[in-house]
Amino acid sequence: MQMDPQELLSLCKRRGFLWPAYDIYGGAGGLYDYGPLGAALKLNIENHWRALYVRGEGFQEIQCPIIAPEPVFKASGHVDAFSDMYVECTSCGETYRADHLAKGLHDNPATLNEEQLGKLLRDNDVRCELCKGELTAPKRFNLMFKTSIGAGKGKTAYLRPETAQGMFVNFSQVYRYGREKLPVGAVQIGRAFRNEISPRQGLIRLREFNQMEAELFVHPDQKTWPKFRDVEGVAIPLLPNSGDARTMTLGEAFRSKIISNEVLAYFIWLTYRFATDIGLDPKRLRFRQHEKNEMAHYAIDCWDLEAEIVYGWTELVGVADRGSYDVQAHIKHSEADLTAFERFDEPKEVEQEAVKPKYEALGPMFKGKAKAVGEALGKLPPASARGKDKVEVTVGGERLTVPSSCFEIMVRKEKVSGRKLVPHVIEPSYGLDRILYSVLDHAYRKKDDYITLGLKGLVAPIKVGVFPLMAKDGLDAIAGEVFDSVSAAGLEAYYDDSGSIGRRYARMDEIGTPCCVTVDYDTKSDGTVTVRDRDSAEQVRIQKSLVANAVSALISGSPLKSISALR
Ligand code: AMP
Repeated sequence: MQMDPQELLSLCKRRGFLWPAYDIYGGAGGLYDYGPLGAALKLNIENHWRALYVRGEGFQEIQCPIIAPEPVFKASGHVDAFSDMYVECTSCGETYRADHLAKGLHDNPATLNEEQLGKLLRDNDVRCELCKGELTAPKRFNLMFKTSIGAGKGKTAYLRPETAQGMFVNFSQVYRYGREKLPVGAVQIGRAFRNEISPRQGLIRLREFNQMEAELFVHPDQKTWPKFRDVEGVAIPLLPNSGDARTMTLGEAFRSKIISNEVLAYFIWLTYRFATDIGLDPKRLRFRQHEKNEMAHYAIDCWDLEAEIVYGWTELVGVADRGSYDVQAHIKHSEADLTAFERFDEPKEVEQEAVKPKYEALGPMFKGKAKAVGEALGKLPPASARGKDKVEVTVGGERLTVPSSCFEIMVRKEKVSGRKLVPHVIEPSYGLDRILYSVLDHAYRKKDDYITLGLKGLVAPIKVGVFPLMAKDGLDAIAGEVFDSVSAAGLEAYYDDSGSIGRRYARMDEIGTPCCVTVDYDTKSDGTVTVRDRDSAEQVRIQKSLVANAVSALISGSPLKSISALR
């Protein structure tokens, strides 16, 4: 069903899902508040994700600061390359993301460089959408919010543009906590910040948003995944970069080399399962493989879960095989040892390179410090000294330059029990706000001005509405007891005694409450209440003491008929 994007946003605002942030000051583009229903929906989505990744797959959940010093993002490449291109109207000053203006003029404008994009916009006489003014040539804009840590000049820092880096820099801690075994995984749920050029699509493009990211650290040779056997028969809609969209089983996709390894295929399945569990419509989901020239240069393979929503096909999740790029980058910049240790079945004799000090040359040059300099040389990684005409060492806090006449690289035989290796990373990265918006979009139904949000019980912010038919004659007191019993069972309930029953059902249907319970005069004589199911509008009568069980069963997907058996 095609709807106006404003329709859903206005429902969200009216009923307390989403509010444009700082509205009383005219608002701020790309920033939204979650109202009480939105915050509850978000938490329910997060909790299901946590159930799958942390409880289900054994990932370690961690939380890192959202602010990080510059070297972190220098290493990750964000300082130099995390940018989008924008154009500016030469008459009114409005800014646009250049590749967005080129939609419809090219198959995938994200793959074009500045010149190509500029030429495409010029050749098609693309102008300002507001005043038809001329546009500047595309320019690059770094999307990170810059700040500083500390007083005075302070140290340059950035708000994180993704939660992932916190997990890469903590690889050694995660590895140690995981008893020094691969595979090992970490997840993080939290805020990310991107100074987007023109955030015009509600929750889809925010400047402050929420991510749920998982980093699975695996052995570089890991290609198989035992749990893949359980899911390889599941058919998933795929849009490979080499051909047409089609629904195929994951096993078929793997065997025909459409998906490059089993680990990636398994996490594509897990993403699909999560998406359908929380109520996204399988008919409006697909996994699109990145074009070769669209992928980050280090990524080996990347698949986006896209949902068809009112704004068109939209990326919700990226599942990427990132190789060892991220960990290598932090090893290079921090010089920390972010490696895993692979123990051999049997110790092996190997040829090892080592830096050997030449004391006959060190003595005359460094006199009393010669011994300490020799020891420092012996600890240098051979790669840092090979082919160099000098190296630097630190002795007693002093930095000393040592010429190559004072050392040599020698090869010696050694028995070793294992080897160090840099792990590869499989990264499923979920955009929580986009997912939440898509859940609302797919749940939205309107018939003759009657709005129903068909939210699944798992994510619905309110699980049950509790109403006394009349707020008198003791019906209100009984309804209060029913409300208390469902609340005590951990189910979010909403008590409403105002207006006609029809109006009260409508209020609950509009916010996606899966069921409602009404206490009427019969309750007083036989202790039964009416349970109404939102989607079928059917009703059954059950004992009031069974309401909490009935609601639990209904929100876990049991049909209303099975509830009547509770009688
Ligand atoms: P990325 O690191 O760009 O692949 O982003 C990971 C996920 O975060 C995407 O799949 C989106 O769902 C989400 N995301 C990225 N940018 C934004 C944004 N500006 N606003 C909301 N969600 C975003």
